[in-house]
Amino acid sequence: MTSELALPESAYGAGVIERASADAAYRKTLDLIRAAEPEKPVFCVSPSAAHTHIENIQKCFPARLLFAVKACPLEHVIVLAHEAGISRFDVASPEEIALVRRLVPGSKLFYNNPIRAPGEIETALFDHGVRRFAVDDRAGLQALDRAVGNRLKRKKIEIAVRLRTLEKNAGGHDFTRKFGADDKDAISILKETKALGFEGSLTFHPGSQCADAGAYSALLEISREIADKSRVRISAVNVGGGFPAPYAGLAYGRSLEMFSKVQTAFGNIFDGEKIKLRAEPGRAFAAPIVSIVTQVKHIRPDGSIFLNDGIFGAFAEFEYIEMRLPVRFWRKEGEIIGPSRSVEVYGPTCDPSDAFPYQVDVPLDLKVGDWLEFGLIGGYGPATVTRFNGYGSYEIATVEETINNAIFASKNTPA
Ligand SMILES: *Cc1c(COP(=O)(O)O)cnc(C)c1O
Repeated sequence: MTSELALPESAYGAGVIERASADAAYRKTLDLIRAAEPEKPVFCVSPSAAHTHIENIQKCFPARLLFAVKACPLEHVIVLAHEAGISRFDVASPEEIALVRRLVPGSKLFYNNPIRAPGEIETALFDHGVRRFAVDDRAGLQALDRAVGNRLKRKKIEIAVRLRTLEKNAGGHDFTRKFGADDKDAISILKETKALGFEGSLTFHPGSQCADAGAYSALLEISREIADKSRVRISAVNVGGGFPAPYAGLAYGRSLEMFSKVQTAFGNIFDGEKIKLRAEPGRAFAAPIVSIVTQVKHIRPDGSIFLNDGIFGAFAEFEYIEMRLPVRFWRKEGEIIGPSRSVEVYGPTCDPSDAFPYQVDVPLDLKVGDWLEFGLIGGYGPATVTRFNGYGSYEIATVEETINNAIFASKNTPA
């Protein structure tokens, strides 16, 4: 994907996502629209949404909460997470490690992507001081063992064995095919971890956008059995990510409830034991923190609209997850409210698949140049943008009050 063209260096930090001109901090979405009249899509990060949301999760999940950085590697979001009390991060590559180390120097990093090249292990261990890893096969454990050699105290290094998610337990986005040791292997890898002198723990990931608390309970039961059968005293269980974002169909209160249910299930299954509980949500953590302002480029006579961003940009998750995003309509005069009709919505590229999977209700008098503000885009929206067709250039702004703040008000009512 990288070339000698004048493309930005990386998608992290100051990459394709650029800081908006000057001091891009606004109180409301309309302030941004009036001041900037943005022709590029703008990711709006809301500090107040971040604080409210992260606090809400922490109330439901008093155990150790990690943020899975891959879901939203925006600098603003990482810093806001830290300000809200998050000091643990799940990182998946040396780039993510360097990013978090730079922004939150004292953070605890969990390199829980079980697939690492030897050079990446070296970098993590010796350049960045990472001491927590996940593995899901013997080769992964042995690679860590070789890299550590006699250079570090093994007791100070924690290795989590990642369990395979049973297919029946997998959530919306299935991780079964690619990751996880089956029960028998998990037992022997856990034993070997301990025999090599490392601290042993367990982890899993039930699948992204998993709205079934029973999947977590089932995997916690399996963790219990594996710990018992291996006779290894595990130090922690990390239930992974997977927690659902409150896309239409799932109320915000319900999405939070998943965290309390998992906390309760853990308490029942590991009753009274000195085992740490961790979770590392990505999507559910980040979705409500970021919204996006897109502009209408073209309207066909049949009413269908073309936006300046689509599924090769911030809306890539439409391909994988059944989701509908909250939306509002703006022009400089204010929010456009009134009679509407359902229309097809397309992205800007020449690719026919660059289309929303559902029709959107838009105001009858929507015009070219008006803006659509979509909420809940923080889970993988900013993370997976591409340069396809020459698009994929964004600005980023801080906006205190966005469409996302409304979801907190409607805590327990279905969206
Ligand atoms: C992707 C990932 C996460 C975050 O998953 P979500 O479904 O976004 O919560 C957490 N842990 C690991 C190891 C992952 O790969």
